[in-house]
Amino acid sequence: MAKGGPRNPMPHQDAAKRITNFDEVALGYSEETALDEAQRCLNCKTKPCVSGCPVNIDIPAFIELIKAKEYNAAADEIKKTNSLPAICGRVCPQENQCEKFCVLGKKGDAVAVGRLERFAADYQAAHSNGVEIPKPEHPELAQYKVAVVGCGPAGLTVAGDLAKMGYMVTIFEALHKTGGVLRYGIPEFRLPRTILDREVDYVKSLGVTILTDMIVGRTFKVEDLLNEGFEAVFVGTGAGAPKLMGIPGENLSGIYSGNEWLTRINLMRAHREDYATPIKLPKSACIIGAGNTAMDCTRTALRIGAEKVTIVYRRGREEMPARSEEIENAEEEGVIFKLLTNPTRFIGDENGAVRAMECLRMELGEPDASGRRRPVPVAGSEFEIECDTVIVALGQNPNPLIRTTTDGLTCESWGGICIDAETGMTSIPGVFAGGDAVTGEATVISAMGAGKVAAAGIDKYIREKKK
Ligand code: FAD
Ligand code: SF4
Repeated sequence: MAKGGPRNPMPHQDAAKRITNFDEVALGYSEETALDEAQRCLNCKTKPCVSGCPVNIDIPAFIELIKAKEYNAAADEIKKTNSLPAICGRVCPQENQCEKFCVLGKKGDAVAVGRLERFAADYQAAHSNGVEIPKPEHPELAQYKVAVVGCGPAGLTVAGDLAKMGYMVTIFEALHKTGGVLRYGIPEFRLPRTILDREVDYVKSLGVTILTDMIVGRTFKVEDLLNEGFEAVFVGTGAGAPKLMGIPGENLSGIYSGNEWLTRINLMRAHREDYATPIKLPKSACIIGAGNTAMDCTRTALRIGAEKVTIVYRRGREEMPARSEEIENAEEEGVIFKLLTNPTRFIGDENGAVRAMECLRMELGEPDASGRRRPVPVAGSEFEIECDTVIVALGQNPNPLIRTTTDGLTCESWGGICIDAETGMTSIPGVFAGGDAVTGEATVISAMGAGKVAAAGIDKYIREKKK
């Protein structure tokens, strides 16, 4: 494809086949395609795309290295500011970040920055003889211990950055596995676990200790960590408390929150007969919401054998918050989209299991505080949708455990931990926070960006304390 032409499409597993397996859907650019796509980049002097990247990757610089066939160097360039490029290349909403600012996007297709990022990271993983582990910059800092609570992208980033500086870092993770939402939320067909494991192993190889099955706030408190010799604590506990509909019938069996559904399938394999905690396999599933979680629930329901899967969303297609690529993938896979539709109650059968959902049709009114047009119910438009499974995927708020067990921690009324934006420090000296625990559900790259800020803040705090 010539300069100025459309972007190179991403090859995909065939839709009919892929809904029968959990293998990765997007197959990645070949070397030839990556070179062609890289040629589309104009290497703009003002680098507008970089301003859209929450961790400021020098995008034109790494694309120039791809043009020169220096693929390992391209990956190294990305890794200067982003330690998880193979993950971000797969899951970042680039259309709202770097690609939104690409000059080519004004008249045609933006450069496929995310696909090129993925290509460089995958190439390096496949062709290098193991990853070089950097030596600690300041080995004398090893006398200072830092605790990280939560092993999602925010916690992994803080831990990686501090370990590279020289600190002794321990991550305490509540679940029995690492990765946070990257493992229990985002399904394998979007993010293969080999890639996640590779990135977690890299953080471990920097000297970080990861202790699983450690629920801070229950096993011990943040305060105990400070009293037991940790100079600082980072709280990266994410946003795992689901928002519910609050309508009649929500306690019927067969109704799940998005997080519960995905955790049970991704982490506990509940759809497989040989696992201990099975779920009833759906025939007709309705998923309420249209964000990334909703798309993941939908496409997971298809893969475990649901015959009919319907997204129910109260606004229109333009307003759907999920990554556009995931919406397109869901459409190709046969998901039905019932837009401008809002559930008003769940209807059960004689056994207390959901059998239908009563809904109202909506129309769009004036924009609300989010800038999206407000959905307004159409009077008298009630109708029923039959279903044996409902998944409520309306987003998550921070889990209250840390908030309720940490004296002196200032939080927003909705649960987000308040921090100083420059350093990531909370209202308690030596306690830092970042990621979804602070912002509510956001993105992988913003959690990582917050982790970087907090790592610098923790380093400064410890150095000043020890002067
Ligand atoms: P998390 O990833 O939530 O990690 C927090 C960790 O802390 C978890 O492992 C949790 O078990 C642990 N924890 C919680 N409480 C405690 C405690 N008391 N003690 C010890 N450990 C604790 N973003 C994108 O950019 N692209 C996407 O495509 C995308 N898809 C998504 C799909 C789903 C289904 C979901 C739910 C989110 C998605 N997101 C996506 C959002 C993104 O995953 C999050 O913004 C990101 O993971 C936040 O990172 P975090 O480290 O702050 O928290
Ligand atoms: Fe390349 Fe687009 Fe960035 Fe310009 S704005 S350097 S064309 S990616």
